[in-house]
Amino acid sequence: MFVSALRTEFLLVAENGSGDQIKRRAIGAYLGLAVGDALGATVEFMTPREIRTHYREHRDIKGGGWLKLRKGRVTDDTEMALALGRSILSAGGLDAQSAAEAFSAWMRSKPIDIGNTVRRGISHYRRTGEAESEESAFDAGNGACMRCLPVALATLGADHDLVDEANQRQAHVTHNNPTSDAGTLCVIRMVQAALLGGTRTDLKLLAEALVAEEPVFAYDRKRSENPSGFIADTLRTVFQSLFATDNLETALIDVVNRGGDADTTGAILGMIAGALYGPSAFPSRWVRTLDPEVRQQCLVQAQELLKLAPLCRAETSSR
Ligand SMILES: [Mg+2]
Repeated sequence: MFVSALRTEFLLVAENGSGDQIKRRAIGAYLGLAVGDALGATVEFMTPREIRTHYREHRDIKGGGWLKLRKGRVTDDTEMALALGRSILSAGGLDAQSAAEAFSAWMRSKPIDIGNTVRRGISHYRRTGEAESEESAFDAGNGACMRCLPVALATLGADHDLVDEANQRQAHVTHNNPTSDAGTLCVIRMVQAALLGGTRTDLKLLAEALVAEEPVFAYDRKRSENPSGFIADTLRTVFQSLFATDNLETALIDVVNRGGDADTTGAILGMIAGALYGPSAFPSRWVRTLDPEVRQQCLVQAQELLKLAPLCRAETSSR
């Protein structure tokens, strides 16, 4: 009963009003981010062999892991995305200063996990007031990408260059690196394509365009396992799982069982697959287990951020 009520909550909100498919898929994307993060966190830093020994196959949100998480709890990936979402909503758009302030407030809350590059970037902002860290060849981690979902929603329908600029404003607070920028922009474009009804084949074209531009992202050579936090390692793993499967549950289970930075591969794959397959594709056991407060924030931000999107504003004004 409880399970079906939760599912109904998502489906009703998602399908109400104008029957807006975009809204449904945006909710799916946010839910996917949080579910992928919570699912993957249990096996973060484990090798596929260790995961097999412990769980045979890891397929349920159960907490634990090296962070000793409470069941259903998410990590920095979802928390930073929600912080960025709040900053976009309060500033009415993507403002570097507001994003830096939101990240700083999040760091003050003593998060359960925080990456080194993120900590350094936020500390730089606190020290100098500058919301852009210096460009660095060493800052090609996945920390800007894991939190990019609010950008995808708030800039839906904007020109490519404007989306790129908006993303760089949030990304460069901590990660000022062209490889991180290219990978993150690709993920944003994939989410946006899925929101607009694109298929898995359409998303593959976007991944192939990224590879043509930045060969370090080539993902079809050998099976990616135990991925590090390097953005190219992370995205190669995400692309392999996304394109080798045809539904959300199988894709997410596949990606987290590859181990390594599994909460972040889960989060990034989750946001893309959630937009692609929609909220009805989620197994109820995952939705039910997710921290209720996080689930609610995801639901609200998905809808509120879309209201800022050029595409949705244009639709509203033409009605
Ligand atoms: Mg994390």
